[in-house]
Amino acid sequence: MTRLRHTWSDPYRTEYATERACWACGLVRVTRHEPGVRPWVEFRRGGRGGVRADDGSGRTPPCEGEAPQAAGEVVTP
Ligand SMILES: [Zn+2]
Repeated sequence: MTRLRHTWSDPYRTEYATERACWACGLVRVTRHEPGVRPWVEFRRGGRGGVRADDGSGRTPPCEGEAPQAAGEVVTP
């Protein structure tokens, strides 16, 4: 079973954060960089609150979206 990687969009930068969204699964990766503290990364999915990546695993959640190859047959008018 292959683990899908996220396909991140171009970063959207604000003053204290940089956000990227995965095209496939909609996960949002937020890199927070506020003055005086070390940057950290949060992940958001489906309207839930921020989930800190350093909750013990420090890992990016796996991509739950369809791979582009698997969705290649979809025809969009
Ligand atoms: Zn993804």
